Amino acid sequence: MNLYTLLESRFPQDRPAICLEVPGGRDSTWDELAQGSARIAGWLASLGLPQGARVAAPVEKSPEGLMLYLATLRAGLVFLPLNTAYRDSELAYFFGNATPSVVVCPSKNLSWIAPLAEAVGARTETLDDDSTGSLLEVCADFPGTFATVELPDTVLASLLYTSGTTGRSKGAMLTHGNLASNALALHDCWGWRSDDVLLHMLPIFHIHGLFVAANGALLAGAKMIWLPKFDTKVAIQHLPHATILMGVPTFYTRLLSEPSFTREVCQRVRVFISGSAPLLTETFTAFQERTGHTILERYGMSEAGILTSNPYLATDGPRCGGTVGRPLPGVSVRIQGEPGMIEVKGPGVFAGYWGMPEKTKEEFTDDGYFRTGDLGHFGGEAIPDDYVSIVGRGKDLIISGGFNVYPKEIESFLDTLDGVEESAVVGVPHPDFGEVGVAVLVAKPGAVLDPVQLLATLKTQLANFKIPKRIVVVDELPRNAMGKVQKNLLREQYKDALL
Ligand code: AMP
Repeated sequence: MNLYTLLESRFPQDRPAICLEVPGGRDSTWDELAQGSARIAGWLASLGLPQGARVAAPVEKSPEGLMLYLATLRAGLVFLPLNTAYRDSELAYFFGNATPSVVVCPSKNLSWIAPLAEAVGARTETLDDDSTGSLLEVCADFPGTFATVELPDTVLASLLYTSGTTGRSKGAMLTHGNLASNALALHDCWGWRSDDVLLHMLPIFHIHGLFVAANGALLAGAKMIWLPKFDTKVAIQHLPHATILMGVPTFYTRLLSEPSFTREVCQRVRVFISGSAPLLTETFTAFQERTGHTILERYGMSEAGILTSNPYLATDGPRCGGTVGRPLPGVSVRIQGEPGMIEVKGPGVFAGYWGMPEKTKEEFTDDGYFRTGDLGHFGGEAIPDDYVSIVGRGKDLIISGGFNVYPKEIESFLDTLDGVEESAVVGVPHPDFGEVGVAVLVAKPGAVLDPVQLLATLKTQLANFKIPKRIVVVDELPRNAMGKVQKNLLREQYKDALL
């Protein structure tokens, strides 16, 4: 079944009711969401693209951005969300790899994105966060109804670019069935209700904001308070009207750093959910003390959706800090070793990496389990036996404020800079972002490196969230007998550098 058909079947009867409440902007009703997505779907269908053609969307978060996602599903095409922070070379890579047929971008970026899109034969339209742009103009005359394309569960719905520790990002192919099964499982697990109000402050170019949060609310027929990004004061202003907050751990540390974040502010909230990166036990405990609420931590990834969750209902077990709970119904999790690599199987597990059959094969075991790259174990002291705890990442991925930073990519950039002999980027703890990158550089003989200057150069070439927070220059990098840089030693050496 088309995921949109499933979502729409759960929209409330009261279609003139507000679906997206947009503070400081124009709210959208359920009718408007359905009609807006129908118009865009009508336009997409008129292009005569083959099933499976990609629609790339490096757009700002807006109601129309969500409509574009739904429209792509409705038309049977593949939605490729991208962060607007990406620069020229990054988008060139994604476009080259995914070869989208349509690219939608903010008008302020049109001058440099259009040539990149043209290079892969895509047409470009614009969409701005103030409900303007050429996309809306070309769609305006299409009808507000559209016969959503019916298709089997196995058809691709989205391409989500993810972890690339040994190179660039890979496109995780997610089917309608993958996304629907995960949304349905979470609907039951987290007790979604039609009178819920989700405070939505996550980006919608990532699994968390788009598939976990937005799909969850749409499937419940529940309203979202739709904000462009997380801001502590704004969150505190809207929390009294919300029943659910989904966030990365940074949301919770920032809320706790604000004295006006009190028990009263959280009175209506029924559940605070955290994921995408490890929630520190200190944050879990401090949150309990401040608000009386126990954060529900869950674990998942672009390739597989949400895999494990702490229980929502007390009758199903305790929410244990430092754990990510038990596997969702239908998900099989096994751990090879103690701790060891977490391997998973289930209806949410993706269909492979786009255009990388060999890489896909490597990441699956012979009996069909996906190797997550995360290390973990079951149980523990005072923890139920079927709860999973994550102890680290097998890969060297850095998760900074919920965003993935791939050290290899940053190192490749650093190594091209004048005077840089070699580099190693490692993640170190940071009180606000959870983790940030530290770049350790070795200068070419005779060269003098200026960290301030290097940071300024990086800022012109990479998205902000990827920029290391510190650059240090050393005589040589620690290496093992095989000549591999020992990143574990660097992590240890710089672990307090940004605390
Ligand atoms: P992404 O594909 O961007 O969602 O990143 C997935 C990765 O985020 C996982 O493989 C984990 O390493 C990490 N992750 C997600 N949720 C958690 C969590 N609750 N605790 C620790 N790591 C997490």
